[in-house]
Amino acid sequence: MITTDPYAFATLVAEQIVKGLGIVTLPIDPKGIARGRGIDVVAKPMENEGVSGMLVRYDSEFAIAYATHHQNEGFENFSVAHELGHYFLPGHVDAVIAGDTGSHASRAGYSSGDKYEAEADRFAAGFLMPRHLFFPALEKAGSGLAAIENLAALCKTSLHATAIRYTQCTRDPVAIVISRGGIIDHCFMSEAIKNVDGINWLRKREGLPRNTTTSAFNKVPTNVLHGVRIEETSNLQHWFGGRRSIEISEDVVGLGRYGKTLTVLYDIDVPDPEDEEGEQSLMESWTPHFRR
Ligand SMILES: [Zn+2]
Repeated sequence: MITTDPYAFATLVAEQIVKGLGIVTLPIDPKGIARGRGIDVVAKPMENEGVSGMLVRYDSEFAIAYATHHQNEGFENFSVAHELGHYFLPGHVDAVIAGDTGSHASRAGYSSGDKYEAEADRFAAGFLMPRHLFFPALEKAGSGLAAIENLAALCKTSLHATAIRYTQCTRDPVAIVISRGGIIDHCFMSEAIKNVDGINWLRKREGLPRNTTTSAFNKVPTNVLHGVRIEETSNLQHWFGGRRSIEISEDVVGLGRYGKTLTVLYDIDVPDPEDEEGEQSLMESWTPHFRR
């Protein structure tokens, strides 16, 4: 099944800019690139915790301010790249700043329903983790949460943003779930897992399945705050329903002050439909049939 992301073009625009700059190694330095274009970049305490950064315009001059309250370099890089999205994406400056002088306060991080914010988020992900550099790194990064941690360290991006980008670029069946308490805040599934027959897709705002490590983990608030990390096994059916009882891996980590939990579901080794059919007929041939 093919899903179309209406904002995907913003990721492509960002990747083209990185290519155009001739950058061939990670990490991408959004602050340095902005300054290289004459854009002032400053750290700024934000009054509102939800504000991640600002794009300020004085006629043809621009400045970027980024919030520091998360004390997270990855979040700061994402915030600056998000503002660069407003700067580079066609139509954004005029849409988000009224007049020749003014400012736009951003809420980066996939929580806003606003079109321009969503596009700037996609831009930031593509800018910091361009596929042509991210995918080769992903292939060497291992699997599960450890792979996402390795890539986040390499790209200087947050675990959250890296996990999302991981599901977009990996060829393996993988899902990531961001939860808070007993509720799925949002989730992303890789193309390979979307193509598995007979599973239910995870949905936003659904309850977390109760018999999972993540559900138990979230009952202890200090797990989230202190960034506790667990590697466990789970069952495909617990998360995705369906008829296959298959052991999978479930890694869980608390995202600290962000207040949410990241779960990575992987090692999902779904048998080939043809092999399954073969097994089924073999079982039938060994099962005595009783006539009524
Ligand atoms: Zn914004």
